[in-house]
Amino acid sequence: MDAPNKQDLIVNQLHPFYFDDLHVRGCLVQLDARLIPDGQRQTENPASIDLVGQALVAVALMSSGLKGFESLLLQTRDMGPIQLLLAECTHEGHLRGAAHLRQGNIDSIEGGQLLMSLEAQGQRFQSIVPLATDLASSMELYYQRSEQLPTRLIIRSNSSRFAGILLQVTATTNPNQSLQDFEHALALLNTIKDEELLQLEPATLLNRLYHEHACRLLDGQTLHFVCRCSRERSLRALQTLGNDDLHELFVEQNGRVEVRCDLCRTPYIFVPTDVLTHH
Ligand SMILES: [Zn+2]
Repeated sequence: MDAPNKQDLIVNQLHPFYFDDLHVRGCLVQLDARLIPDGQRQTENPASIDLVGQALVAVALMSSGLKGFESLLLQTRDMGPIQLLLAECTHEGHLRGAAHLRQGNIDSIEGGQLLMSLEAQGQRFQSIVPLATDLASSMELYYQRSEQLPTRLIIRSNSSRFAGILLQVTATTNPNQSLQDFEHALALLNTIKDEELLQLEPATLLNRLYHEHACRLLDGQTLHFVCRCSRERSLRALQTLGNDDLHELFVEQNGRVEVRCDLCRTPYIFVPTDVLTHH
């Protein structure tokens, strides 16, 4: 195996940034596609993997503006071209998600609904917005309706990476000035090229965009893909079938039953002695 290069060590991190001279905050995320578990990448089509990668970027970006939260969950309602889309980011930087498209390739995700659930201090807050043509525009709509703070998201992907950047006005006593600052920062952001967002190191990227400004990059938070599935959970799920049905299942499956996690698609294999209870 090759030794990891410097850039490999910087991806899979959440990088908040802010400006000393503009009422704007931001966040940058670059994810290596290999963050998504092998089982999922091998069973879903590339368009679905691309969508889940973008959704993981989106929830990670959104989590950067939240204080005292436990988890942020993005889901879509089963309508339109998306059969399933789910992405979650916890305050510890644990990501998980899955996506399944009805067809291999789509031009637009429009047609369904986006459901955002935030868990904070033991309470759950939910918002629903219609899905726009892409995920970033859908999230902007969410911000417009929920926080009412001008927010811009850009999310890009290629076969090996997913990346995104978020800019948002910070609330101040001078909304006009803040809005001007935001528009200025946005005009500079719009000069970004897809490959720059995907490949450039965070400090280099921000310097390219905002060298005229006092832009400060905060320490990154490491992001991991962590699914809550386990062999024990799969075993318990299987045991709910009862001995008779299990016997039948093992006969059908030639003595070896595979349970796959719905989310990360990790397979758990069981033989009769693992599962059957004897009286
Ligand atoms: Zn799993």
